[in-house]
Amino acid sequence: MVVAAGRGSRAGGDVPKAYRPLGGRPMILFSLSLFSADKQIRVVQPVIHEDDAPLYQAAAGGLDVLPPVFGGATRQASVLAGLEALVAHQPEIVLVHDAARPFASAALIGRAVAAAKLGAAVPGMAMSDTVKAVDAREHVTQTLDRVSLRAIQTPQAFNFGALLAAHRNAAAAGRDDFSDDAALMEWAGHSVAVFAGEAGNVKLTMPEDFARVESERLAMLADMRMGTGYDVHAFSDGHHVMLGGVKIPHTRGLAGHSDADAVLHALVDAILGALAEGDIGVHFPPSDPQWHGAASEPFLRFAVERVQARGGMIAHLDVTVICEAPRVGPHRDAIRARIAAIAGLSLDRVAVKATTSEKLGFIGRGEGIAALATATIRLPWSG
Ligand code: MG
Repeated sequence: MVVAAGRGSRAGGDVPKAYRPLGGRPMILFSLSLFSADKQIRVVQPVIHEDDAPLYQAAAGGLDVLPPVFGGATRQASVLAGLEALVAHQPEIVLVHDAARPFASAALIGRAVAAAKLGAAVPGMAMSDTVKAVDAREHVTQTLDRVSLRAIQTPQAFNFGALLAAHRNAAAAGRDDFSDDAALMEWAGHSVAVFAGEAGNVKLTMPEDFARVESERLAMLADMRMGTGYDVHAFSDGHHVMLGGVKIPHTRGLAGHSDADAVLHALVDAILGALAEGDIGVHFPPSDPQWHGAASEPFLRFAVERVQARGGMIAHLDVTVICEAPRVGPHRDAIRARIAAIAGLSLDRVAVKATTSEKLGFIGRGEGIAALATATIRLPWSG
């Protein structure tokens, strides 16, 4: 279960915390894709705030996870809503994870799954700071023995039935003030074990947390790459052309591979070029009948996923459309928005320009459309 139902108002920003971009991707995507890719996890249940449904759909609509359920007024109520939705799937164990910790690793999930056999287990870190208790006036009342203290993270791991029963009992008893699920299990009389957490599994709460994490992440993505792409399609009979995933009415159509979207094809080649991972024809052969007439958006999604699989990010996409007609200018904003949506980028990382060929050459004679693209990507430095 990935819990993202809070408002996260301390984090500031224009959008709720879970949807704030980290390296161009909404934060909630980090946890959802980590858990959905894990072979040991059968289903992933997102719990979101009701008001965030459109944001969630835009960010995570295509992921292989269960439909989101809406959380309640407290974190505890939100987890209970998620647990009730999971009853139908009869899980043996459940891991409860906060979307505000986007950097959990597959290894941590492995330890959590193993520890769940104990009934209740949480990832913890030894404390390096000295910890003191204070009174209401911020005066120290006690210095705690840090050797016996642990800072607790998520994912927290539980026997599903035991956690569900504890949550139902707490709700029935009118208790809604538990700060985490482990505290609720302690209240219910269960013993809670601690397994090794991860220093990198930080919780992002304040605006400066986001700024720090962004700059640390960018510093690691020091392998800057640029790739170029070029594509041409000839006009044929038809009533529209596809450019950048946008249908533009025209007196002609375009012939060729898939829907002949030269803009998306050039962008795919630019990204694959930056990755040095072949070209669009290698990954989607024109001889393969399944691509005949197909929409080109999955090709761009594939290229973006290749960048993400390498732990990288796309910094910028730039494309120039060259044709005498149709006029691209009126559709420029729609094309930019479509490319940004497909690639999961903010609008200011996508540029679309258009020019003619001054009536020169095959483009000048109105025989086809060309597109030139440049992709700037950042990959982790690997020497
Ligand atoms: Mg093409």
